[in-house]
Amino acid sequence: MEPMSISKAPLVDAFNRQITYLRLSVTDRCDLRCSYCMPEKMQFLPRKEVLSLEELHKLSIGFIERGITKIRLTGGEPLVRRDVIDLIRALGRKVGDGLEELTLTTNGTQLARFADDLAAAGVKRINVSLDTMDGELFQQLSRRDRLVQVLQGIAAAREAGIKVKINTVALKGLNEEEIPYLIEWAHAHGHDLTLIEVMPLGEVEEDRVDHYLPLTAIRDRLEELWTLTPSDKRTGGPARYVDIEETGGRVGFITPLTNNFCDGCNRVRVTATGQLYACLGGSEQVDLRAALRSDDPDRQLSEGLDLAMRIKPERHHFRIDRGAAPAQPRHMSLTGG
Ligand code: SAM
Ligand code: SF4
Repeated sequence: MEPMSISKAPLVDAFNRQITYLRLSVTDRCDLRCSYCMPEKMQFLPRKEVLSLEELHKLSIGFIERGITKIRLTGGEPLVRRDVIDLIRALGRKVGDGLEELTLTTNGTQLARFADDLAAAGVKRINVSLDTMDGELFQQLSRRDRLVQVLQGIAAAREAGIKVKINTVALKGLNEEEIPYLIEWAHAHGHDLTLIEVMPLGEVEEDRVDHYLPLTAIRDRLEELWTLTPSDKRTGGPARYVDIEETGGRVGFITPLTNNFCDGCNRVRVTATGQLYACLGGSEQVDLRAALRSDDPDRQLSEGLDLAMRIKPERHHFRIDRGAAPAQPRHMSLTGG
C-alpha cells in the first residue's frame, strides 16, 4: 500500500485562525540576567536537550512548508548561540521562497559584531530590548554592565541598513520616569518603540507585582506630553500602536494583563528544546524534538503541527497577583517572549 502523503496544508486552528508566524528560541542561554526574566543563578539546560542547528533548520523548513511566512529567532539571547549565523544564513535563503520575513529579538550586546552578517543574510528588521539609557539602572536591571555595547550594537545595525524596533519593559519605580525620554531618543534615531507589561512567567527572586506598571497609566502620561493618534497598524500580535505627532515616531503597547488580544493570534512558539507552545500564557504543548528525532521525522513533524492546531487555546489566562505563583512555571528565556 502507498504511504499517505505528508500534509502541506496551511496551519489553521480550531478557532479558524491561520498560523503564519513562528517564534523560535535557539538557546535558553543569555549573557544578561534581567531580573524580571531570570534569576542570577539561572539553571541552563544541558546541551544535548537543545536542538542542534541542523534540527532547528529542519524544523523551520517543516513550518515553512505548512505556510509559515515569518520566523523570529529569539532565546535566551539568540546571538550567543555558537554558529547561529549559519542558521540565519540558511533561513535567509528561504526569504522570497516561502518565507516573507526572517527577523530576531536580541538584547543587542553582540549586535555590533553581527550587524553586517545579519544584513547580508537578508534580515531587514530586528527588535532590540532596551529598558533604560542609564548605565547604573541598566546594570541593576540586567545584572551586567553592558549598556555601551547595546547602544553600539543598535548603531551598527542601523548603519548596516537594518530597521531596529526598541522593546521596553515598563517597570514601576525603575524606568517609569524615563519612558518619555526613551521614546524621544528612539524616535530621534528612527526607531519605533514598543512598551511591554511585565508578565508572570517563571520564578525570579523578586515579586513582579512590585514593578508591575499598567500601560494605561503610561499612555495617560504620554497624552499629557504629546498628541497621540491611534494607528491602524496591526501585526497579528498583541501590540496596539499610536503615532506621536511631536516626535514623528510610533509607540506600541503590549498589554497582556489589561487587554485581551487573542482573537487575531497568528503565532506559535517553539522552545530551544523543540517544545511547541500553542500559547505563551498556556501549557498546551507538542514535543517536536521527539518528532525530529523519530525514524520518520518529516511525517511526525507535520502531524505534530496538526496536533498543535487542534489544541491551541482560544485565549490566554494571565493574571498578576501579589504572592501568587507564576502563571506558567517556565521562564520567558525558554519560550523567547
Ligand atoms: N534576549 C533577547 C532579548 O532580551 O531581547 C530575546 C529573548 S527575551 C526573553 C524577549 C523579550 O522578553 C525581551 O524584550 C524581554 O524584555 C522580554 N521579557 C522577558 N521576561 C519578561 C517578563 N517576565 N515579562 C515581560 N517581558 C519579558
Ligand atoms: Fe536575557 Fe533577554 Fe531574558 Fe534579558 S530578557 S535575561 S536579555 S533572555
